Amino acid sequence: MRFITADQIFSGKVFFPSHTVLVLDDKNTISDITSLDSIEKSNVEHFKGIITPGFINTHCHLELSHLKNVIKQHTGIVDFGLSVIKNRNNQSPEAQLEAIRQADREMREQGIVAVGDISNTNVSIEAKKQSDLFYHTFIELIALNPERADLVFDAGKHLLSEFSKAQLSASLAPHAPYSASLELIKKISEDCSKLNKPTSIHNQESNAENDFFNSKSGDYLRLYDTINVPIDYFKATGKSSLQSIVSEFHKKINTLLVHNTFTNKDDIENVQKTHSHLYWCLCPNANLYIENILPDIALLHSTNCQLTIGTDSLASNSQLSIIDEINTILKQQVNFSIEVLLQAATFNGAQFLGIETQFGLIEKNRNSGINLIEGSSGNYLAKKLA
Ligand SMILES: [Zn+2]
Repeated sequence: MRFITADQIFSGKVFFPSHTVLVLDDKNTISDITSLDSIEKSNVEHFKGIITPGFINTHCHLELSHLKNVIKQHTGIVDFGLSVIKNRNNQSPEAQLEAIRQADREMREQGIVAVGDISNTNVSIEAKKQSDLFYHTFIELIALNPERADLVFDAGKHLLSEFSKAQLSASLAPHAPYSASLELIKKISEDCSKLNKPTSIHNQESNAENDFFNSKSGDYLRLYDTINVPIDYFKATGKSSLQSIVSEFHKKINTLLVHNTFTNKDDIENVQKTHSHLYWCLCPNANLYIENILPDIALLHSTNCQLTIGTDSLASNSQLSIIDEINTILKQQVNFSIEVLLQAATFNGAQFLGIETQFGLIEKNRNSGINLIEGSSGNYLAKKLA
């Protein structure tokens, strides 16, 4: 039995009153939440800093872990993507798997307890099966050509069955608006609806994505030209990418929009009119690495977007740490509410993944992991406490 308290304790949604004490049993389950007055003081461990539930990383690509320090910074998304395509198979499967295991250990040490992980192959299955972390895998599908939707969907279902056979939670996810046809997005979202599982899509990571949809212009024409894929069938919509695709998503299925770097107020208000199960994932370190710009986080918050936090992959980040993503936001926006960011990093992420009865909250009879955040705003460090 342990009795622990700290300067502040965050439940996943709000701060507990000061002098709250968490009572942990031998398996780190919270057997009681009580007040300092009711406990013999010499039994209480007092920590300097903030106690939180274990963190939820809603966007990662374990498969790209071997690309740490390989891809140049600040090139923009098109050259970043081309460099990933060129380099992703440049190491042996054994080296890739070892990099995945190392990334998994790193996340555990950083207080992450659950991960939404994008996968294009089965290479991460063994590491996920053996991990202490909870993984939900998003099988990522790519096909802008509507005629390829059935073929790509069927291949995705086959890969999905490999994860399911390994007892791993998984569902399908379209890669991005510029790389998935409306037909493919609709099939994926309907499949998620049947399975009652969440889905995810990269959204407005660059302005080129909006140019592509608004007027079929910009840097994505160069991408398709470079990889030699004709896109005669693609027609401009005269709208932003998000507004062009949102109608294909099922309204009742939790859908994660990842990045949102070039999302404006009109986009947010427009999609929120019809879709109430959208979550908005912030990956600030990756945004700085690739485009060297951050999304308008204050706008996303003030328009009631349900925020979550992701690390993206080691191809576009130096570490997989939720607290480091929070530090990056707080360095840019010193007055931004830590409470909002901690909720994004805990309860919101768990709710998006549909695991909120197990993770994301400090509550009696739960074991959602317990972290301690030390240090000062913008320079926080997190460690796993229990
Ligand atoms: Zn990503």
